[in-house]
Amino acid sequence: MRPAVERRGRIAAPGIAAGPVVRLDRPEAGRRNPSGDPARERADLEAAIATAIEAIAGLAAGLEGDAADILDFQIAMLEDDSLSSGAFAAIASGGDAVTAWSDAIAVQIADYEATADEYFRARAADLADIRDRVLRALTQAGDDATPPGAVLAGEDVTPSRFLSVDWAAGGGLALFAGSPSSHVAMLARSRGVPMVVGIGTIAVGDGDVAIVDGETGRIILNPGEADWAAYETARKQAAARAAREESVLRLPAVTGDGVAIRMMINVAEPEELDALDPAICDGIGLVRTEFLFHRPAGLPDEETQLRAYARIVEWADGRPVVLRTLDAGGDKPVAGLTHDDESNPFLGTRGIRLSLVHPDVFMVQLRAMARAAALGDVKVMLPMVTVPAEIEAAAALLDQAVADLTSEGAACRRPALGIMVEVPAVAIEPALYARADFFSIGSNDLTQYVTASARDTAAVSALNDAGHPAVASLIRNVVEAGAELGRDVSLCGDMASDPAHIPALVAAGMRTLSVAPALVGRAKLAIAETVAGSS
Ligand code: PEP
Ligand code: MG
Repeated sequence: MRPAVERRGRIAAPGIAAGPVVRLDRPEAGRRNPSGDPARERADLEAAIATAIEAIAGLAAGLEGDAADILDFQIAMLEDDSLSSGAFAAIASGGDAVTAWSDAIAVQIADYEATADEYFRARAADLADIRDRVLRALTQAGDDATPPGAVLAGEDVTPSRFLSVDWAAGGGLALFAGSPSSHVAMLARSRGVPMVVGIGTIAVGDGDVAIVDGETGRIILNPGEADWAAYETARKQAAARAAREESVLRLPAVTGDGVAIRMMINVAEPEELDALDPAICDGIGLVRTEFLFHRPAGLPDEETQLRAYARIVEWADGRPVVLRTLDAGGDKPVAGLTHDDESNPFLGTRGIRLSLVHPDVFMVQLRAMARAAALGDVKVMLPMVTVPAEIEAAAALLDQAVADLTSEGAACRRPALGIMVEVPAVAIEPALYARADFFSIGSNDLTQYVTASARDTAAVSALNDAGHPAVASLIRNVVEAGAELGRDVSLCGDMASDPAHIPALVAAGMRTLSVAPALVGRAKLAIAETVAGSS
């Protein structure tokens, strides 16, 4: 029996799961004996590609936004002859299907990795996914070698790999590196998949079993008897807590001493809302509109954007909806728009900076938002504001959009225009930004800029701590300035989703929190256990 190994990491998504370990960095292909017959090799590869396309199309069905785009990209690549032609040529000259496919796609991956464009570099991981999917089909290892309830372990995981797993059967993620603020972490939280990151490299292999404890941030590899007993207890506690969360999910969020907290949700993809009851929240505190900008079809036009916003506004059913303008750049590149030659993208042309460099693109978004504002209680929020002039510039464009739409006879409304408080300059001197109609603290970026530790770098993840007193002090500063200026202040960073931070946020005077949909019940329970006192 293998000895138990325990590793501590950071919680990226809560919950507890146990299952067989599947390595993320191996194709998990089985073996295949070459037939020696080129026609047979070609037919087998064609069949494997078709199987892969079918499987991905099955996963993509019913999905929209980022998730669907990632899978659509994979299907488009598999259908593109230029990907497979190298493999078929190698087979024609006597190669076997497995080697021919692996070699041909390796060339493509190397090309993508070598490009200067960050978007295409990120797509290299998606190509590796489809390489492995075809290899699994080719070697009869099953289309998806991830058994139900498996624990995926490895350095990091791509969104496409995450989306390729059927998490309904349980399972979790144990990442050697990774970050709680990554895109996959957001997906894991919204789908309720336990995920622990930053556990450091561990040797895992076939036959290993692991417990992912997203409640305490631990991984236990090959648990012993006592570990299993503790797992059972923790699982029961997690199930009991989930039942308690469910019982408060539709109740108003109120502290133990009766202070009401407005509970909003963060939305990164509209389809997240499909399975959600609007009664669980007081509105949508943040719509990350980046999902619209990652489509292979290019930048979204006004109608496409309006459709997406209208769907969200309709779901909200009269509750407020805060649409954030595009926050591309940093860890969110958009092909053809973001500047990929910057040495430090997090300090570069991202958020409102980028939108103001591309007023044509920005205007399309502002027009769609002004039209959506005619449909419900829509507010518009600017990301990464650093100087008041950015609010002035955006307000002028928004006014122009409303004036143009009005003269065109289109239904529209001038929405309130607020800002994210995520650059320390704003958090230190919020009164300078009184031109904004409201403030929403982005604790993810505020923490990374205050602690000078990137939100997506595992090696500095312990420093990237929203609990740092300097972050708390800035939050208090913004709440006080908001009260003096008569501006609403909310917090929509992941800090609000972490029960450990809720007492400090309430003590700082924060009365509106916006959290990942899957964490609403948890946040409401934590609020109920918090005493606001005289704050
Ligand atoms: C934040 O920075 O806290 C935030 C909510 O925005 P994002 O995570 O999308 O950068
Ligand atoms: Mg941010």
